[in-house]
Amino acid sequence: MSRALIIVDVQKDFCEGGSVPVKGGADRAAAIAELVQRADGQYAFVVATRDHHIDPGAHFSDNPDFQDSFPVHCVVGSEGSEFHPDFAPAVDSGHVDEIFFKGANSASKSGFEGSTKDGTTLSAWLKARDIADLDVVGIATDHCVKATALDGARVGFTVRVLLDYTAGVAADTTRTALDELRQAGVALSGEPVVA
Ligand SMILES: [Zn+2]
Repeated sequence: MSRALIIVDVQKDFCEGGSVPVKGGADRAAAIAELVQRADGQYAFVVATRDHHIDPGAHFSDNPDFQDSFPVHCVVGSEGSEFHPDFAPAVDSGHVDEIFFKGANSASKSGFEGSTKDGTTLSAWLKARDIADLDVVGIATDHCVKATALDGARVGFTVRVLLDYTAGVAADTTRTALDELRQAGVALSGEPVVA
């Protein structure tokens, strides 16, 4: 059994200049790229998730509440859906073993709702490789990072969120997210970065 790193949604639309910008997103993108390089060999596998929307229904809104509805973002084929340029080199250099796409026709905040291009789910992919422990990083702490970590714990992985490599949309929802994660048995390390 061994540990994998799950990098959640480090995409242009979730960083400064994107359509749903999370303050600190670009800074975290660079930090995660460094983590991936530095941790070479420390993780059995490193994977990334991507928000990958075609028609996600009420997840998109002209009057978003930033809880359940958001401005249009990460539309398949759009520039905003691409990995942030400060993180992309970690992918291009082969440090990321697989990419999981989620949310074609739904909100899909959890990476565990994602699958590879050939349809393998994140859970099946990890279990086929005897992964028991997960470190989760990425954007946003109070949305997709939270959902991914909670789902990971729910399906039986031992999960830790590395807060120094996450960015949250808002302080209050990030605080609530950290409480939910602790209650679910998810370990938290580092300090939360919030707007
Ligand atoms: Zn989305």
